[in-house]
Amino acid sequence: MPFHKHFELEDLLSVARPAAKEAEENYQKLVKPSCSLSVYQEYWVTYMILANPENKFNLTRKVGKNEEYEKAWKKYLDSVDKYFRTGLDVDQIVELWEKIEEEVPSVSEGKLLSEFESKFKELEPLFVQMRKAQQKMAVNLGFESQLEVFLYDMRISQDDYNFFLENKDNVIKYCQEQLSKLDLNLPTWFYSQFNPLYHHDFLSLVKDYPEISFPEGVTDFVEKSFPVIGKVRDKLVIELVEGGSSFNYLVKKDQYRMGIDRSGDNIHRVRSLFHEFGHAISELENFENGLVTLGKGLDLAEYLAYINEFELLNKFSSTVYRARMGDFLVLMAKVLFDIEVLKNPEQDLAKLHANIFNYCFPDAKQTKNYTYLIKYGTVYRPLGGLPQAMGMVKALSVRGNLSRLK
Ligand SMILES: [Zn+2]
Repeated sequence: MPFHKHFELEDLLSVARPAAKEAEENYQKLVKPSCSLSVYQEYWVTYMILANPENKFNLTRKVGKNEEYEKAWKKYLDSVDKYFRTGLDVDQIVELWEKIEEEVPSVSEGKLLSEFESKFKELEPLFVQMRKAQQKMAVNLGFESQLEVFLYDMRISQDDYNFFLENKDNVIKYCQEQLSKLDLNLPTWFYSQFNPLYHHDFLSLVKDYPEISFPEGVTDFVEKSFPVIGKVRDKLVIELVEGGSSFNYLVKKDQYRMGIDRSGDNIHRVRSLFHEFGHAISELENFENGLVTLGKGLDLAEYLAYINEFELLNKFSSTVYRARMGDFLVLMAKVLFDIEVLKNPEQDLAKLHANIFNYCFPDAKQTKNYTYLIKYGTVYRPLGGLPQAMGMVKALSVRGNLSRLK
């Protein structure tokens, strides 16, 4: 790997040594610490290395400094912006999809396509240029491909990535089966070539699940299945936040923090909390076994969290669990597209996007889907969601979960 040469062992130790001492001092001040001193120290030291203020050990910052890519990226965003300013509005993407949702039943797809195709055609070469610049940047940095940069950056091993590639198709089939057991009223535009699959989730479409309060009811429910949570109830911090849910072990305070996206309704918050509890449970179990997974690959943390989450969701409601499997297909469609684009940006991307949509949702018969050009995650965060997709594939494949979770 080309980046190992960029820092010396001595540099690493100059961060690790004082951190280990600091951790020990802080540990003595904790009331009933939730893990052993050695685990605590290892966590603290790893955290300090990853959060090193000079970012000496952080690949992302170095990659982000490439001029050519930055230029191509800016050019693309400027043109998206311009395009939205003349045709649509960049801040009102959701509104567009609502408009389409309204129009799809009465206006033919062909008419919609003719209305927007010229704009999509303007954007397409710029998108390709951006991805090509990214690829060139990766090669200049000594990597084989941009895909390799992402895997390296997310600390994902080639073996784990191969496991994902080999098992994803079975898991996709399993998720399709689960989804087909739900009686769903899909929006009329769902199979439309204008569905970018981000203004959509299956959980919004289901209704029959038990009532549960957030966060107390969920916490009680989780504790019943995972008594380990009871040991740290006074160390749980559950808060509503902006911009996505997350879990952190707050090492200084020895607290387990779950930030839950406030934008969703109660059931969305509940499901997110089940997932973040999945992280908390696996963290506690790892600590008990003397393991620290911080820094050992984002996909590993997700995999461990999903195992717990799926068990909880199954106990809570098969409907919510099945909707979750449907939402996994949405995620897969995004990730599979991102991977193929990184491999070869110079192909018929609208056709590729349509084919992947059809593959994940076989009732779809799309031929061209241009919406990737204005799909936030695809433009801004290619491969964002890969650790989650990998974690899910592993959680549903390993341990015979495909047959265990019905
Ligand atoms: Zn997670």
